Amino acid sequence: SSSRTYFIGGNWKCNLNRKEVIDLCKGLASTDTSKVEVLVAPVALHLALASELLSKTKIHVSSQNVSATQKGAYTGEIAPDQLVDYDIKWSIIGHSERRSIYHETDAVVQAKVKNALKHGLSVKFFIFIIVCLGETKAERDAKKVQEVCLGQLKAIVGGIEKNQWDQVVIAYEPVWAIGTGDVCGAKEAQEVCQLLRFAKILYYVCSNINFLKDNVSGPVANATRILYGGSVKADNALELIQQPDIDGFLVGGASLKVDSFGGIIKACQ
Ligand code: PEP
Repeated sequence: SSSRTYFIGGNWKCNLNRKEVIDLCKGLASTDTSKVEVLVAPVALHLALASELLSKTKIHVSSQNVSATQKGAYTGEIAPDQLVDYDIKWSIIGHSERRSIYHETDAVVQAKVKNALKHGLSVKFFIFIIVCLGETKAERDAKKVQEVCLGQLKAIVGGIEKNQWDQVVIAYEPVWAIGTGDVCGAKEAQEVCQLLRFAKILYYVCSNINFLKDNVSGPVANATRILYGGSVKADNALELIQQPDIDGFLVGGASLKVDSFGGIIKACQ
């Protein structure tokens, strides 16, 4: 993973009020992020505020969700070009809470990925995405980790054109490790992240008969950042980041405080 810049995302979920956002952003603005790429994802209401507070830093501000549609009669949704219009260039897509609580299927996740990456004729910009996938405890116990993760990956890959991969970060987040304090072992997390990287090549091999003539998949798979997410803390980050196919983290709980998020960033610097 030495050729890939480490990436640390903080998913604030439906947390923090205005004052807490201000305090956290001020703390992050004075945190050393020089050697890594850092992103925070506040609730939609706080996007502009966080963006303003972090404007002098290189920390990205991301939405936690994006619409599968463009602008129009879709109550409660935010379209990609509305994010870009506010200079929000990132979105998380397919988080397990969106999948389980709000019933987002693989098809919905794929539609959102496609919509976010779409280059309209008049659109000069695009957004970057962190796409999440991962198995539940029951699926892991049933030894279905590969089957489930590859199925979710296949849906995601189906929404991405080959030339759009530099806009994509993948996050492997086993559902049983999210918010539980039950972190995935470094070896097990590495195993899935490695599988995802090579599977990405395989899907292109299978879906593109001109693959041998047009062999861009290997380098692209190598360049794509694959994150681990699920109960990452400052004290377990180091062992995980040392794994060759883990290129950073998506962090929930520990991203809400400067000390703990800063500790994770430091472990990756
Ligand atoms: C997440 O929600 O993406 C996450 C990884 O949460 P936590 O770090 O709290 O487990």
